[in-house]
Amino acid sequence: MAMAGESSGKNCGDCDGKIAGKSQRKVGLVYDETMCKHDTPDGEDHPECPDRIRVIWEKLQLAGVTQRCVVLGSSKAQDKHLQLVHTKDHVNLVRSISTKQKDYQRNRIASQLNSIYLNGSSSEAAYLAAGSVVEVAEKVAEGELDCGYAIVRPPGHHAEADEAMGFCLFNNVAVAASYLLNERPDLGVKKILIVDWDVHHGNGTQKMFWKDPRVLFFSVHRHEYGSFYPAGDDGDYNMVGEGPGEGFNINVPWEQGRCGDADYLAAWDHVLIPVAKEFSPDIILLSAGFDAAIGDPLGGCRVTPYGYSIMLKKLMEFARGKIVMALEGGYNLDSIAKSSLACVQVLLGDKPIQGSSEAYPFESTWRVIQAVRKRLCAYWPSLVDELPRKLINQKTPTPSILISSSDSETEDDTHRLLDQMSKLNIENHQVDTASTSWRAELAKVDIWYASYGSNMWKPRFLCYIQGGQAEGMKKACVGSMDKSPPKEIVWETFPHRLFFGRESTVTWGVGGVAFTNPLTNLNYLTHMCLYRITLSVPLFISVLEQFNDVLFQENVLNVDSDSPLFDLAALQLVENKGSLSLEAASDGWYGNVVCLGKEGDVPILTMTCTRSAVEKFISGEIPLRPPAKAYANTLIRGLVEGGRFSEKEAEAYIDNAASKPL
Ligand SMILES: [Zn+2]
Repeated sequence: MAMAGESSGKNCGDCDGKIAGKSQRKVGLVYDETMCKHDTPDGEDHPECPDRIRVIWEKLQLAGVTQRCVVLGSSKAQDKHLQLVHTKDHVNLVRSISTKQKDYQRNRIASQLNSIYLNGSSSEAAYLAAGSVVEVAEKVAEGELDCGYAIVRPPGHHAEADEAMGFCLFNNVAVAASYLLNERPDLGVKKILIVDWDVHHGNGTQKMFWKDPRVLFFSVHRHEYGSFYPAGDDGDYNMVGEGPGEGFNINVPWEQGRCGDADYLAAWDHVLIPVAKEFSPDIILLSAGFDAAIGDPLGGCRVTPYGYSIMLKKLMEFARGKIVMALEGGYNLDSIAKSSLACVQVLLGDKPIQGSSEAYPFESTWRVIQAVRKRLCAYWPSLVDELPRKLINQKTPTPSILISSSDSETEDDTHRLLDQMSKLNIENHQVDTASTSWRAELAKVDIWYASYGSNMWKPRFLCYIQGGQAEGMKKACVGSMDKSPPKEIVWETFPHRLFFGRESTVTWGVGGVAFTNPLTNLNYLTHMCLYRITLSVPLFISVLEQFNDVLFQENVLNVDSDSPLFDLAALQLVENKGSLSLEAASDGWYGNVVCLGKEGDVPILTMTCTRSAVEKFISGEIPLRPPAKAYANTLIRGLVEGGRFSEKEAEAYIDNAASKPL
């Protein structure tokens, strides 16, 4: 292992980097308040908010690390450098988007893009973000700096050659990589490793270097068979590059959320690190999103600052420690500040911060890693060997008792969580071994039913299971054949738009009821209460299941029906396609089943209106209406009793969803 300071010793003869006799790595930092001016047009709340970079900068200052680093001014990207990876049209659009002439078109342009907002400062911020990453990369390649961190926004890795998406306008890291390779051959950078540890797949970066063997792109991300943002097959492990670039694109697609340090480090040790050794990069660019951090409201993973510091430390072994970090996502302000600090301390060569990880990766993690190795071993001989059985037997069974994924989870809660996790594993293991046989016989299938409307209030949801009528309802429910209560309840947020519409309903009277747009949109977060209920049970008692009975009641259909609305084949279909509109429920309002991913190995399903109904809401053919008080109160009680919000916050959340145009 290279000791801290060794590389700075060989780069420069002067003593600038030496502090108190101890040689110190020269770490560059870029931060510019100007990039905070990029914001939502009306200042509405949004996860990709200006405070993200402010809190990181404040944390670094408070910890006293900024004065140990080389602080650089930001730098504006040049059009010709942006055009190395973007089309001319795209560069022109982003340049002009914040001009006065575009004032009236800006919102319309943003609404036509996937998960993008724009204001009068977006152009400048986008140019500064890309230019600053280029600047740090250039200085590290030249040897003026040992490594650096560009604390920039908007992020970049979703931006494609001709399209802004997923909060990203220019692909900052891709611009920097292309600049070094194509504009600065004098710097001798011939091979670049791009590591993308953001919880989302770096679709833009992947496409830009798809056929380029000079760039090895590695992305580890939640994928869940293509249901996680940005949905589709691009993030699959079969996407290995093409032509001369074949084998130089590596995706590690998680099958589930809740991945933590152990899972990420397993991907490092058994995929990334062996390949990096073979590739031997001249420099590493790190798409450093911190939305896989514990407590992130979009990511749902559990990487701790300690985990990030170990991952970074392992990368420092390559390219003589020449690493350029560029901020991508990360939406829990506390988590991104702490994770960033841990990383800068590693860049400085400080001892990695103290900590510990969960004992073992998830079972699904080993499955994914084995599949990736098998797919890529033709290009990377170090991946040929099968992983020892002893190693992959060390696994964490998917927890069956879930810990609420509260937004406030941070590193401070880690120990508590780890404690719970370890207890859980033991219990879970015992249950598993004792019950394997009867589980197999029954072929029981559970699903998570994700509710975002009145069903978030448990007493109201139980009416669908046990029958009856909750406060505010004008009509009683018949309930489900299987009256057993949900096995578990957990809360999560999903990037879908919540809205309220219709004039009146039988159950609630006059006023709108809740819908969620079946299409993903990262600009919105919908809080959902997940109930673990049954989808399928023994064939000889085919009526004994709950999800269909909820579907029947939501669509005002008869529970006594002799065929299910939604069977195992439909489940398969919805898991592959993301959503499925049920013909038998086409007269109902909630006949569109949407798969939101998986929790553990269990699929998360919600029911909402069809996309064509959304179009009718947009056109005004079906009215958008705020909910009546009794209905709104049910949602508020659900959110408050579920520990999601205070009453005031819950009210604001509903008001906001009810007042914004679609
Ligand atoms: Zn992300």
